[in-house]
Amino acid sequence: MDIAKVIVDVPVRSTDRPFDYSIPESLKLWIEVGSRVAVPFGHRTVQGFVVSLESGETVVNPGLKPIQEVLDLLPPLSPELVELADWMSKRYACRRISALQAMLPTALKGKAERLISLGDVEEETAFPDDELFPMFADSGDEERLITEFIGRTGEVSMKQLTRAFPEAAETVKFMLRRGVLVESQSIKDKMGKKKLKAVDLAIGITAAREALNKFPKKSARQKEVLSFLIEREATLPMALKEVLSALQVTASTVKGLEEKGFIEISEIEVYRDPYQGRDFKPTTPLPLTAEQEIVYTRISRTLEEQLHEVFLLHGVTGSGKTEIYLQCIKRCLDQGRQAAVLVPEIALTPQMVERFKGRFGSGVAVMHSRLSVGERYDEWRKIREGKATVAVGARSAVFAPFSNLGLIIMDEEHETSYKQEENPKYHARDAAIRRAEQCGAAVILGSATPSLESYHASRAQTDIHFSPVLLEMPTRALGNELPKVNVVDMREELKEGNRSMFSRKLHSALAERLERGEQTVLLLNRRGFSTFVMCRSCGYVAGCPECDISLTYHSRSDNLRCHYCGHAEPAPKLCPECGSEHIRFFGTGTQRVEEELGKLFPGIRVIRMDVDTTTEKGSHEKLLNQFRDKKADVLLGTQMVAKGLDFPDVTLVGVITADSALNLPDFRAAEKTFQLLTQVAGRAGRHQLPGEVVVQSYTPEHYSIVHASGHDYLSFVREELKHRRGLHYPPYCRLILVTLSHEQLPLLLRMAENYAMNLQGKARNLRWYGSLDKLTTDVLDLLGPVASPIPRLKGRYRFQCMIKWRGAIDVIGLVRQVAEELEDSVRDAGLQISIDVDPQMLM
Ligand code: ADP
Ligand code: ZN
Ligand code: ZN
Repeated sequence: MDIAKVIVDVPVRSTDRPFDYSIPESLKLWIEVGSRVAVPFGHRTVQGFVVSLESGETVVNPGLKPIQEVLDLLPPLSPELVELADWMSKRYACRRISALQAMLPTALKGKAERLISLGDVEEETAFPDDELFPMFADSGDEERLITEFIGRTGEVSMKQLTRAFPEAAETVKFMLRRGVLVESQSIKDKMGKKKLKAVDLAIGITAAREALNKFPKKSARQKEVLSFLIEREATLPMALKEVLSALQVTASTVKGLEEKGFIEISEIEVYRDPYQGRDFKPTTPLPLTAEQEIVYTRISRTLEEQLHEVFLLHGVTGSGKTEIYLQCIKRCLDQGRQAAVLVPEIALTPQMVERFKGRFGSGVAVMHSRLSVGERYDEWRKIREGKATVAVGARSAVFAPFSNLGLIIMDEEHETSYKQEENPKYHARDAAIRRAEQCGAAVILGSATPSLESYHASRAQTDIHFSPVLLEMPTRALGNELPKVNVVDMREELKEGNRSMFSRKLHSALAERLERGEQTVLLLNRRGFSTFVMCRSCGYVAGCPECDISLTYHSRSDNLRCHYCGHAEPAPKLCPECGSEHIRFFGTGTQRVEEELGKLFPGIRVIRMDVDTTTEKGSHEKLLNQFRDKKADVLLGTQMVAKGLDFPDVTLVGVITADSALNLPDFRAAEKTFQLLTQVAGRAGRHQLPGEVVVQSYTPEHYSIVHASGHDYLSFVREELKHRRGLHYPPYCRLILVTLSHEQLPLLLRMAENYAMNLQGKARNLRWYGSLDKLTTDVLDLLGPVASPIPRLKGRYRFQCMIKWRGAIDVIGLVRQVAEELEDSVRDAGLQISIDVDPQMLM
């Protein structure tokens, strides 16, 4: 193997292909497919990934540049992941480097660093000739200092050098020019491994005991340390810090022992453990219910044979899906394979983690965006180095670097957060299925409300490339009923004079819970809602100057903020348009509900959980713990309170406004409403106490609300599929959203039209272009260009084209090709084209 094909980290489209590098003899042992390397590219050193190796016999190119450095002892990517990245770049029209990088923790997103070392030059040239370079006549001393400084370690970074000699830039440049100093580049990671000074015995235990007896009197402190270490021989090496604090001795005492040769102080690598010091109550497998047994038997047959198969586990809330996951994982681990568990980011609660850590202990690595960069890196390393066999995490856990993956579980598979909104815009479900296909693993997609795509795929042959085996669990594991759901028509409330945000039904149900000391979860469906500021005199609405959307009022800081770009400004006291004082905020935020609760039920204890109260690390967990310990009567929040919580004393769930998201310009609005209502209703009455749900709505007759309150998934699906089929939406076709943006509107308009025309022309030539109404299987239809729902974002205008298509034709490749051709022909760096394949967000 003499040539490595490398994907380099250079943000230019023309570099989205492998480049050849020769492999120096000294690196041959270390380079594999998946290695991260530093390579010269132009005048720079950049990071890259080896995607294939070739023997040099076939290609002889003496001009090939060599790989400079291998950046890790163990390649961070496996050939399997490299192949998956290749698939992603085609499937989601993204660059290969961005797919590869999405698989790695942030800590490994290395950047080039300039390194300075001493050059190999003769004494005369080492110091400047005063006559030749009079301007440097005085620099001799400075040069000597710099030479000494670098000589101490042999090599320093440019940054370190500038910090030590902030005034010497000219001198350094001069030294570099003469070759007294030489510059090289290397890739430096954002975050290194954590090292710890550790103490161990340097001699055998018997020898140590003997030494202890003969210890000189005057070194009593050292003797103490030695005896302490002998006592703890079984758990050595131990952290130096621990020894110091346990015995209240100084580091020099311990050093003294080392000098005498009794002990050894060394640096060891440690993992930053985000769950350090936490005890997880060990749990054992539960005897399965009859329903669970059937499901488990079916899946374990596939695991037994190590086949690739996809299961769609449709189980109502509380049906015991998690127990199925746990036992299937056990089965997989028993075969010496590993398992990855994906949960939506906001459901990745400590409660969830506890269930996996409780069963599989320290073999569980958690991959979570709330962890620090260092913690995330170390959890990832535990997997890569084979010290963890189960990964629990959000979306990106699908890339967990296991070597022998046997099972991927995706809980709440319908969640839109499984789709990444920035590049690479991948869906974890498709990536999971693809990866499992590659390595012969099983996939379990679990949900009480499967996405229409997955459900439809399990019932019919579709264009989507997977056909899962449907498994159902229609009853709760503990035998209790699903909670009764009351739908309250809020229009009626208003007619009868109730202007409060609480219906009489919800009010009395809350009062009952307070009396009985039971708990309530209140959901405010904030999606599509806004707490905007409006002038009641002239109708002025405060909007973001950059984004064309209304600003949201935050009472805590008394300012207005844009949720898209972060723009903030003080809340106006007078209307900027007409000067009226009647300017105030509208809509219902969680803070308003909290205030209202306080007024209606004096003394009520409310825990509010929303983006404002959960920004701090660990705050989410703290709030939930408080609620579990019954320090509050009500848990009030947004979507966050709907997922995965399991509290025995919650007997009431209230939904303040069920339909606030129904009118969004999104064809999934009904599906999302149905899912959210089902999820949150599932939080009630999960244990001994029976549960009740009150749903407040202004459109109670809407089928998503009717069927959610009847716990009737099938009827909802039937009705929704009818709509989708009629309007040509997924799962009856696929979508690609192409968004073009530019700071100048007229230019953008022309380019967007150009794009649409070119795409249409090409599709027509291939005989793909047409209407989806026709019964042909291979068809592409194009809508737009039109202004995006958010027509201006962060100062850029936006236009979009929606492509609807069906069949085995390569529409994704075509859409990308036309975008690249447009970019090449207009050569305007201000133009950005974003391609979103199978978009989840249409806003
Ligand atoms: P889901 O994930 O489907 O919503 P869970 O896994 O949270 O359901 O299970 C609901 C409750 O039922 C939990 O309290 C769980 O401990 C309990 N449970 C699940 N399976 C069993 C079983 N086989 N025997 C007894 N209790 C069970
Ligand atoms: Zn006004
Ligand atoms: Zn904005």
